[in-house]
Amino acid sequence: MAKRAKLPEYGRCRMLQAWPEWDCSVHADVAQIDRQERAMNYPFSFEIDSETKTARFSSTSDLSYYDTTLASCTCHDFEDRHLPCKHIYRLAAELGIIEIFRRKPGGQDKDLLESVKNSSNIDEHPEQLKRIEKARETKCAPLSIDFDNRMATFGGSGKVPYETTVDTCTCRDYFVRRLPCKHIYRLRIELGLTGGDNGKK
Ligand SMILES: [Zn+2]
Ligand SMILES: [Zn+2]
Repeated sequence: MAKRAKLPEYGRCRMLQAWPEWDCSVHADVAQIDRQERAMNYPFSFEIDSETKTARFSSTSDLSYYDTTLASCTCHDFEDRHLPCKHIYRLAAELGIIEIFRRKPGGQDKDLLESVKNSSNIDEHPEQLKRIEKARETKCAPLSIDFDNRMATFGGSGKVPYETTVDTCTCRDYFVRRLPCKHIYRLRIELGLTGGDNGKK
């Protein structure tokens, strides 16, 4: 087979075929990813009609059933939100329209990370605000600051101090996330740069 483009992924969905009923970006929402997970893990039973692309799902907890299409479902979740529910995702997966892939190790963090990276102002995302708060703590004081080169060293959990610039750091948090860690924010604060205090400086 000729080389083919990598299939697009949104949330836990790898799009194997077009699914025109929904804008793909819907599937990348954190609340939707949760439903994609449950679509594969939830202990329901179901019958799929691949001709009509519909399904009937039965919950193990009660006797009612839900009728599901690629665009709608009779469950409460769908009726409340009008967004794909776990039944719709499972139907799409069974029909081969999407593949719901497993979370990679640390996948939950990855979703969160995506939401930070996609936010319009990274420094105002709650995940970053947590780090800015920590950066202000006394115990996060740098061991040394090189004002000319805009670098600092910070004591870490190991013997070797972290080396920090205004946008990189040798700590684990930065290594994993590639986003400003508390050291970077602290350095920015020490240097009087924005980012540590939301630009009020
Ligand atoms: Zn449903
Ligand atoms: Zn760091």
